[in-house]
Amino acid sequence: MFLVVNKYIMKKLFFLLFIPIICCISCHRNCVTKAPNKEGSQSIQDLFSTKIDDKKVMSFDISVHVVYNHTKPSMSAVSNDLERSVNEANGFSSQMYFNVVSSRLVKHSAILSDIRHSKKKESNLCESEDIKNTINLYIVRSNNDLEGYAPVLASNFEEYANLPDMNRVFVSYKGLADGAVLVHELGHFFGLGHVDDCRNYMSYNCYRDTFTGEQLETILRFARVYRSYLHRPV
Ligand SMILES: [Zn+2]
Repeated sequence: MFLVVNKYIMKKLFFLLFIPIICCISCHRNCVTKAPNKEGSQSIQDLFSTKIDDKKVMSFDISVHVVYNHTKPSMSAVSNDLERSVNEANGFSSQMYFNVVSSRLVKHSAILSDIRHSKKKESNLCESEDIKNTINLYIVRSNNDLEGYAPVLASNFEEYANLPDMNRVFVSYKGLADGAVLVHELGHFFGLGHVDDCRNYMSYNCYRDTFTGEQLETILRFARVYRSYLHRPV
């Protein structure tokens, strides 16, 4: 009887304790960037039947904006973290190259979660800072678990060429220290949504270091077709 009760209690404890913990880990969303909708997903699928012969290396210029409020951050720490993140971004494909062309400090009270929820606040920070024809990487303060955000379209990706305010990627200071966050946001920038597989760059809260072959092919095709206005041959 005691054994039976014990087994019963153990089973109960498992469901009460471990399942919520597992759910919490797998469901926690520390990036809330929009995923492609049905129409957008179809456009991405269509990229695979589009003939793309161009195999030239695409070079993307990145303009870095280090946003601080009262206290200037340690630029040596930011530089180290930035180098780590950009190196990681340069590691996932030999057909893409990211090149930091400028880096400057911006005094502004912006917080990542506010920007995520308010295009007005995003514009207030970025409109006078954006550098044309580059990916504008904003390093901003975060007051919660949100580590990155990329304003993206859910469909009609051909519009990107006419929307300079869509050439932005936001990463928190903590996110910058984890090189995978920039790669994750660039994944969104080049058409990817989220996946649940741990180790995949497009998942959450894991040690992330890989894209699937299909994701890589999507990034490359998306970059050549929909972000072509931003890159130049090396
Ligand atoms: Zn995300």
